[in-house]
Amino acid sequence: MTELEQFIAAHEAALRAGVMFGLLAVFFVLERALPRRVQKITAAHAAGNLFLGLLNGVMVRLIVPGGLAALALFNAGGGVLGLIALPDWAAFLVSIILLDFVLYWHHRAFHEIPLLWRLHGAHHSDRNLHVTSALRFHPGEALVSTAIKAAAVWLIGAPAVAVIFFEILLNGASLFNHANWRLGRIDGLLQKLIVTPDMHRLHHSRAPRESRMNYGFFLSVWDRLFASYQNQPRQAHHHIDLGLHEAENDNVLAALWHPFNR
Ligand SMILES: [Zn+2]
Ligand SMILES: [Zn+2]
Repeated sequence: MTELEQFIAAHEAALRAGVMFGLLAVFFVLERALPRRVQKITAAHAAGNLFLGLLNGVMVRLIVPGGLAALALFNAGGGVLGLIALPDWAAFLVSIILLDFVLYWHHRAFHEIPLLWRLHGAHHSDRNLHVTSALRFHPGEALVSTAIKAAAVWLIGAPAVAVIFFEILLNGASLFNHANWRLGRIDGLLQKLIVTPDMHRLHHSRAPRESRMNYGFFLSVWDRLFASYQNQPRQAHHHIDLGLHEAENDNVLAALWHPFNR
């Protein structure tokens, strides 16, 4: 590892937390300056989502002390990439693209497998989508998700720096595409490459036909490739019904209890 890579690996947790809180603040301001929908977000609701994010972050850290980057360091030279002699930059790029591909199917599985949908429903029970919705995941989903990501990192043989970059990218992309941010025509242009707020808002529609579209987190190519892409909802974004019919209460306790609802 180069000195820079060693520095990044040693300060991985601080780097990730710094970028996350920085982007959270930036998108919080932007969605107030340029709101896409008129929504009433209470401080208690935003605090509940933040609490879930912190709870999951601490829990995952306790289970995997050094994070997925430590696993990648331990597995250095292993996995599929260990069998192919690729230059470092190519191994980095291939790892990011493959991890994003895995995350697409990971998200799709959470919708298509009933037991996993019970966990992921806690994320979809948010009735007003904004930047803190990006942190609203049930701890059960965070656990399964960590296991899937760990397996992917191991099998791919992703370099530690790529894993750290991917996790920062994933958090940043999630904060970006949950923000209630009006991008105008830029949204449509960006959709050609990445998942945008309009694209992900459609995924949070109450209409099952729409919530089973737009599974991507970062690159939009996977939805196009696997026939799950829809660029606009049937209702206008201002009127689109968000949330779940079966979860009228979207506070933090309701989110934690969500998988146990009948
Ligand atoms: Zn979903
Ligand atoms: Zn979402």
